[in-house]
Amino acid sequence: MTQKYTNDSNISLPMAVWLAQDEYKHDPRPNHISVTALLRSTRQLILSKRLKPGEGLEDVSLLLAARLGTAVHSAIERAWLTNHQDSMLDLGYPKHVVDNVEINPLKPDPKKVQVYTEIRKERQIGNWIVSGEADMICDFHVHDVKSTSVGMYTKGTKDLDYSKQMSMYRWIMPDLITEDMGYIEFIFKDWSLIKSFHTPNYPKVPVLQHKVPLMPIKKTEKFINEKLIQIETFMDADEPDIPLCDDKELWRDPPVYQYFSKATNARATKNFDSETAATSHMLQKGTGVVKTKPGKAMACLYCRAATICSQRTTLASQGLLASSAS
Ligand code: SF4
Repeated sequence: MTQKYTNDSNISLPMAVWLAQDEYKHDPRPNHISVTALLRSTRQLILSKRLKPGEGLEDVSLLLAARLGTAVHSAIERAWLTNHQDSMLDLGYPKHVVDNVEINPLKPDPKKVQVYTEIRKERQIGNWIVSGEADMICDFHVHDVKSTSVGMYTKGTKDLDYSKQMSMYRWIMPDLITEDMGYIEFIFKDWSLIKSFHTPNYPKVPVLQHKVPLMPIKKTEKFINEKLIQIETFMDADEPDIPLCDDKELWRDPPVYQYFSKATNARATKNFDSETAATSHMLQKGTGVVKTKPGKAMACLYCRAATICSQRTTLASQGLLASSAS
C-alpha cells in the first residue's frame, strides 16, 4: 500500500494513528465529482488529480481540523440515531412532538416530521455524476455543521460558499430539500465567554445557527455546469495555463494599510482596512508613512497539489505565503 501521510513533527503514534484515519469514501469512477470538490479551485482540483501515488503527501499535523470535524459530525449523527427521543424529552418537548419525528425513513409518513442524517445522493449532469452528503435535513431544510473559528462567522466571507454548498445539495436532492433557506450550524472552537460579554457582534453562544439563503435551482445548475466545463477545458492543459487560484481560493486576507509615525519604525502605529483612511490619518498627523501589508495565502498550506504548482512557487518567491507554507 502506498504511503499517504508524513509525520514531520513527530506527533506521537497514538494521536498520529487517529489523524491518519481517513473516513472519506473515495469514489473511483472517473466521471464522479463531489460537491466538496466543486467548491475547490479548478487549479487545485486538476493538479491534485495529476499526483502520482506517493506524491503530494499530507502531513498529519495539518489534519487536526478535518479529523475534529469528522468526530463532531459522527457524534451528532449518533445522537440523532440512538438518542434523539430521550434528548428531546430532556429538553422539554412534549411526547406527542417527539413521537412525530421520523429518522431516515425509507417510506416517509407525510403526517410526520422527517429528519435525515449524513444522507448521500448523486445526480447526473452531462457526462458527470455529482454526489453530495448533507449533514442533516430537517423538515425539508438543509443543515450543514461547521466546527470553525468565530472569525469565520463574524467576517461572513464564507457565506457565499456555504450557500453554494447547500444549494448543490438541494439540486441533488430536490425531493428532500424543498425550502429556500439553509442553516449553518456553527460550533466555535475558539469561543470565549469573556469576549461574548464585551465584544460587539461576537456570538453569545458557542453553538449558533446561521441562516443562509440558497441559490435558485437554475442558478445552481448553471454554476455546476460552468465549473464542470472549466474542469473539462483545462483537465489536460499545461500546468501554467490552468487558471490561477484567486485571492478567495487562496484564503488570503485583504491587505492591511499600516501607518508608521516614522518610516524607520519596525512596528506600525495604527492599522487601517483602507488606503484612503490610512493616508488621511497620515495627512492629519502631518508626518509618517503608509505601507501596504498584503494578505498571505493560507490555502497552499493545506493543498495537496502544492508540490507541483508553479503559482505556489511564485507566491513563495514574493513572500506571499503564510509563514508555515513558505
Ligand atoms: S498550491 Fe496554492 S496556488 Fe497552487 S493550487 Fe494549491 S491553493 Fe492554489
